[in-house]
Amino acid sequence: MDNLNYSLKKLSKQQLLEATLSLVKKEKACTLELIAHLEEIEDRRLYAELGYSSMFAYVTKYLNYSENEAQIRISSMRLSRSNPEIKNKISTGELSLTNVGLAAASIKRQENTKGEKLTSSEKSKIIETITNKSTRDAKIELEAIEGSITLKKQVYKIEISEKGLQMVNELKKTMGNYQDSELLELLLSEKIQSLQQQKQSEKKIEPEAVPSEMIMRDNKKPSRYIPKKVKEEVRTRAKSRCEYVSPITGLRCEEVHRLEYDHVIPFSFFGSNSASNLILSCPAHNKLRAINTFGKEKMDQYLKSSTLGEHSDRAAKCGCIDIDRKNL
Ligand SMILES: [Zn+2]
Repeated sequence: MDNLNYSLKKLSKQQLLEATLSLVKKEKACTLELIAHLEEIEDRRLYAELGYSSMFAYVTKYLNYSENEAQIRISSMRLSRSNPEIKNKISTGELSLTNVGLAAASIKRQENTKGEKLTSSEKSKIIETITNKSTRDAKIELEAIEGSITLKKQVYKIEISEKGLQMVNELKKTMGNYQDSELLELLLSEKIQSLQQQKQSEKKIEPEAVPSEMIMRDNKKPSRYIPKKVKEEVRTRAKSRCEYVSPITGLRCEEVHRLEYDHVIPFSFFGSNSASNLILSCPAHNKLRAINTFGKEKMDQYLKSSTLGEHSDRAAKCGCIDIDRKNL
């Protein structure tokens, strides 16, 4: 760096200005290239192969970006999938990465408020509004758009213990920048889904009458039902943490939320429901295992486009992914 500073001193004013301009162009090109690389990594689920439960964990822990920088890059990458014009605007300097990140966060909030996804053209209008705007002006524009949406929210006050608050903050760190209300809605919806699934499987079979090995229902076909005792055995062994270990980095996944019981030898390949054939797995590693077993082509028919921790019920129905989730 000292040598660089020394050589810069030798440049004329004009040369220094031109060199700086050239670096800015390179930086923008590099940003676009980075977004394209992140997109490909998400498509191939390479973050999961390295032992991370999400793109957010990979970008913060492996690439060492701050949480905010990671959130901006990931949300920009995802938004540019539905609205590729963003890439062009970044390359011409009409849009900064910060503004794209703001737009992505605003779109998410608007979708939560409306209770439905925005269309690509609705997103385009939002992007257009913040094009060629400073970050400060972009924030004002986005706030105005959000303010015009009729809020259907209710005020819900809760008291929380210090331990509870610590857990909320821990969860936010792992999952990214969610607002408290968004986080609560996400957890409630996961919990309700999990309880419904649990209720359905419990209805079908008497727990006490079930052996821990392959279970035959009506003496006809094997059941996916995993007895409570087996689940406890697996959970204790795994210390309530995803058991995936990356063959590339040797890193064990750190995810402790939204864990599922995953068959080592798949259920559809007559894998048993014994503890030795089950591992505790986060959604990302459950999907990775399914892709490695059944092939990407087949799984692409069932898995929706990648999002953080998204679970595909269609995939579960196809018998490729186990849907037995651990209660949060
Ligand atoms: Zn995992």
